[in-house]
Amino acid sequence: MSDKIAYRGSLFYFKDSATIANLPINKDKQSEHDCQYVYIEDGILIVESGKIIEAGNYADLKNKIVDIKLVDYKGKLITPGFIDTHQHASQSAIVAAYGDKLLEWLDNYVFPAESAYSDDASADKDLNFFLDQLVRNGTTTAVSYGPLFYNASDIFFEKLKERNMRFITGNILMDENAPDSLRLSTQENYDNCEKLISKWHNTNRLSFCISPRFALACSEKMLELCGTLKKDHPDCYIQTHLDENVNEVIEVQKLFPWSKNYLDVYDHYGLVTDRTVFGHCIHTTDAELARFKSSGAIMSWCPLSNNFLGSGLFDFGRALKYTDRITLGTDWGAGNRLSMFAVMDDAYKVSMLNNVKLPSMVGWYMATFGAAKALKLESKIGNFAPGKEADFIVIDADASPYLKYRREKVSDIFEFLFILMTLGSEENIEATYIYGKPAYINQRNK
Ligand SMILES: [Zn+2]
Repeated sequence: MSDKIAYRGSLFYFKDSATIANLPINKDKQSEHDCQYVYIEDGILIVESGKIIEAGNYADLKNKIVDIKLVDYKGKLITPGFIDTHQHASQSAIVAAYGDKLLEWLDNYVFPAESAYSDDASADKDLNFFLDQLVRNGTTTAVSYGPLFYNASDIFFEKLKERNMRFITGNILMDENAPDSLRLSTQENYDNCEKLISKWHNTNRLSFCISPRFALACSEKMLELCGTLKKDHPDCYIQTHLDENVNEVIEVQKLFPWSKNYLDVYDHYGLVTDRTVFGHCIHTTDAELARFKSSGAIMSWCPLSNNFLGSGLFDFGRALKYTDRITLGTDWGAGNRLSMFAVMDDAYKVSMLNNVKLPSMVGWYMATFGAAKALKLESKIGNFAPGKEADFIVIDADASPYLKYRREKVSDIFEFLFILMTLGSEENIEATYIYGKPAYINQRNK
């Protein structure tokens, strides 16, 4: 029996041909032929068996939907789910921890909190809570650091499978400069990866991510084994941290005196690839940026975290001269919100501090279709082209009184997206759908 459903509301998404470079940045600079997005004020999205069947004008499609179930979100915005490219699933307990910068913050807050995931029951409870919060914030896909321990990471994959989420994750790896409670042997870390890859990689909607925490927490042998894993499983992703904090960069240089720069450490072990997501990338050299260009490696810009830990200001304008594979992450843990609205808001402010304007279209692109493209998932998620997986959210701007008031004063989609990205929050997420099924419905008015 068909499970076809039509959703009525305003539709917004980027076309397959969109890139950062060809996005219109305001109404005056847009012509019909180069319009890289679709905005339909009164639209219909038709979904069947977890896939997008069609998206179009209500007036054009109303005869097609007479016999199918209609869910009415008129006046609300239906748009693809957010993609968060950097977050730590096992750091919920220390979000908003006071007063430390990166290296001290890891010792004082993160390591004790992550140690608690050695207990399977508490890992189960925490990871479930984390995923509830994620969908409540409208995020449907993420690149995420899983817990260090095998069982807890296995539990995380199990929960993602139950929720049918498209997700990229793996057990975080560290074998040096860690407390005893978080230090596994190099071999055990490697074996855990192999077991998780054979059990979960390319099953359901899941991909495995080789996840060395950062160069300071990994021995040369551990990094070498990460390179071996990548060679043996070429379609696995890799995630790690790069150039986040000035003291971190100095320490890396001391620990790897042979390296030309921080990125060169990862490059030496075959970890700089077009499937590697590097978090932060703030204190980059020109040589590192040139390597991003030649390798196609992905940047995850995490302004909430960078501001919270006082790490520095990502220079979007400079990075863009080398690569358009720039995405956005919460860095939940150091980032103090799970909302991609909040990430876009801080990205805009950080850009202004660097004297670069961040247009609303560019912010939304990086938080949705641009991230799908960078992760090579654009044939599956990120917009409403027919055949794509139906991960979408419903945004109710009128759920917050000031946003409702401000919305009445905007005249076009560029301004509307801008006020959403700078004023929106999880209270504006009316519903989150994953593979065509509701994963979260806001109970505010129910
Ligand atoms: Zn991080």
